[in-house]
Amino acid sequence: MKILLDMNLAEIVEEFALINLPKYKAKQVYNWVLRGVDFDEMTDVDKKTRALLKEKYIAVPAKIHTKLVSKDKTQKYLFKLHDGNVIEGVLMNYKYGNTLCVSTQIGCRMGCKFCASTLNGLVRSLTPGEILSQVITANAENGGTIDKRQVTNIVLMGSGEPFDNYDNVVKFLNLVNSEDSLNVSYRNISLSTCGLVPEMKKFADLEIPVNLTISLHSPVNERRKEIMPIANKYSVEEIISAAKYYFDKTKRRVIFEYTLIEGQNDTRKDAENLAKVLRGFSNHLNLIRLNPVKERSFRATKNDKAQEFLKMLEEMNVSATIRRQMGVDINGACGQLRNNYLENENTTR
Ligand code: SAH
Repeated sequence: MKILLDMNLAEIVEEFALINLPKYKAKQVYNWVLRGVDFDEMTDVDKKTRALLKEKYIAVPAKIHTKLVSKDKTQKYLFKLHDGNVIEGVLMNYKYGNTLCVSTQIGCRMGCKFCASTLNGLVRSLTPGEILSQVITANAENGGTIDKRQVTNIVLMGSGEPFDNYDNVVKFLNLVNSEDSLNVSYRNISLSTCGLVPEMKKFADLEIPVNLTISLHSPVNERRKEIMPIANKYSVEEIISAAKYYFDKTKRRVIFEYTLIEGQNDTRKDAENLAKVLRGFSNHLNLIRLNPVKERSFRATKNDKAQEFLKMLEEMNVSATIRRQMGVDINGACGQLRNNYLENENTTR
């Protein structure tokens, strides 16, 4: 069965023509699907057409199975996919709007030593429509429409490595940005990668002006290899050069993510090395104190030590901030998402 949301409107029109459905019906159906409505509830589509469509297509591939609400109002969703697999997504509430953190793969094969998403390896990559469906479903859940969206910003920072699912992720970006669809501005979208250098360069050439975020976590190759297996393939120098290339192409300031792990990457020497590596081009460093993952032994850098680290960086003229942790109490913070049923009993559905 095909997923309707994998296609853009023009492709759905073509697809429907093959089964003798006129263009206006394609538009009607697409309009429903973008609001997260399944075939049975498409009230202005006749029953015969609905039955035909149900046989051939999936309308909304990601539905909310369970929802957890954090003390800080962050919501974590467990999305159940049409094939029974599950993925997690997080909606964070900021002054400027709501940011949805979406998954791009079920599980992950990057193997970062401090992250929960990779514990069971990669199950499979998500299709463009399965990624889009997370946005549509979360938007509808919060009373949003196509024109008045409740999901204003999107970060591709859930489970999975976006550039390990390159073609589908690029198609998702095109789909979600399209005026026929949700029309989310690229500037309101951030894509995070652990540093797949060839894809970073290929992506830069597309000149899609999203915010590129790079998970660095150590400026020292040998240390980085210990916590991120991908560092055996691409060096810090290659990543920095790809980041500069991205900036030259898009003129978008690159963001580096740096998870502070006690005793691993939080010394004065680390700060000095970071300052060296980040010198000379437009970037910003996001420091995040490690969020706990029960299967992992790493601990977060203590709060006062993190503040000291930030101060050292500022003195070395590095643009940096410590990121607020959201949704930790519902295991909804960075690196805590997994492809599993929610363990917490405090579910609302
Ligand atoms: N695979 C992509 C997308 C994941 S984004 C990437 O690596 O960038 C999730 C971010 O959270 C990444 O920066 C990741 O390194 C970070 N992260 C993973 N585990 C974490 C943890 N336990 N605490 C804090 N951040 C973590």
